[in-house]
Amino acid sequence: MTSQATRVLVLNSGSSSVKYQLLDMRDGTRLAVGLVERIGERASRLVHTPSGGGAEKRERTERIADHEQALKAVAGELARDGIGLDSPELAAIGHRVVHGGPEFSAPTLIDDAVLAEIERLVPLAPLHNPANITGIRTARALRPDLPQVAVFDTAFHSTMPEDAARYAIDTGTADAHRIRRYGFHGTSHAYVSRRAAELLGRPPEELNLIVLHLGNGASASAVAGGRCVDTSMGLTPLEGLVMGTRSGDIDPAVVFHLERVAGMGTDEIDELLNKKSGLMGLCGDNDMREILRRVDGGDAAATLAFGIYIHRLKKYIGAYYAVLGRVDAVVFTAGVGENAAPVRAAAIAGLGGLGLVVDAELNAVRSGEPRLVSPGHARVAVAVVPTDEEMEIARGTFALVDA
Ligand code: AMP
Repeated sequence: MTSQATRVLVLNSGSSSVKYQLLDMRDGTRLAVGLVERIGERASRLVHTPSGGGAEKRERTERIADHEQALKAVAGELARDGIGLDSPELAAIGHRVVHGGPEFSAPTLIDDAVLAEIERLVPLAPLHNPANITGIRTARALRPDLPQVAVFDTAFHSTMPEDAARYAIDTGTADAHRIRRYGFHGTSHAYVSRRAAELLGRPPEELNLIVLHLGNGASASAVAGGRCVDTSMGLTPLEGLVMGTRSGDIDPAVVFHLERVAGMGTDEIDELLNKKSGLMGLCGDNDMREILRRVDGGDAAATLAFGIYIHRLKKYIGAYYAVLGRVDAVVFTAGVGENAAPVRAAAIAGLGGLGLVVDAELNAVRSGEPRLVSPGHARVAVAVVPTDEEMEIARGTFALVDA
């Protein structure tokens, strides 16, 4: 790598999509942001937005057969802007990988052995890791000489103590099948806890934080001194909070009941709990904007869904308060956490006894910046910190190749 190589291409490969960002780690500039979706369909779509200089967003719809074609199309768009994959300024490609299992606790330089390890983890994330692997293979074929780094959604949570990470099931069975709580959204929880410390003007090592990542998927984490000590997602992203379409915590016996009494098959139940539950299952909508509109209009199903969502959130805030013993800040992030003031207000309402209060005026401010929404005198800060998972992936990638 040459010393002028400061750019990182971040790739987030899904089964039929690739999201990408090109970042310059000298100053954190975003040079391009884009997305290829509906890969393999007749009308795939590529949207490419070069940053700065008033450059226009470019969009095209055509058949993009596979991930290789998709990445070549992305490379073409970047080359058009003079920031192609062959540029000496490109230091590395950082890949989002959903499941790092027990093996990976930090960003990892990819070689054949690492790729084989990630493949071994496919049974733990059958929907996500195969697409991530395809992205890695394709990018390696395109630039075999360039360092490629895997950044895992689970890694930040690998510091969880066994008390928090283990399920209370037979140890032999758990170990044989690598069943434990891994947690997800780790890049977001890591980024947001660091930015929250900056906002509070204190070193992360001194702070105890509860981070609430509330997007379409949602997770909470308890972070002590910059290290995760508990998180709400488990073996899979199904555990924990009520989400857009996922149930979050339920009695596992509901599954047996659905099998024995409702006659449902495993795949059907999987789909029910992951795709047809949560806010969607409760009221037919998973977009919090629509739910808040319906709540305002007095809609009973949306009001109940909102109530269940908030109740679960409060339970996790209380649980993590107890896990941490002392809390310096509760931090909201992701689509709902950053934008839905009524969710923040309702989640914190009634928690004055824990030192948690939201200032209505500050909470109503719309901004893309990290900010406090608690009054100055509050014992515990309540903050909103926009997440940036791509920046965190680029940071982890660059730190490894710039060493
Ligand atoms: P994410 O998964 O972080 O992209 O979050 C997506 C979700 O954020 C959407 O499904 C919406 O429910 C929610 N969201 C986005 N913007 C708003 C908004 N202005 N008000 C309420 N919810 C929002």
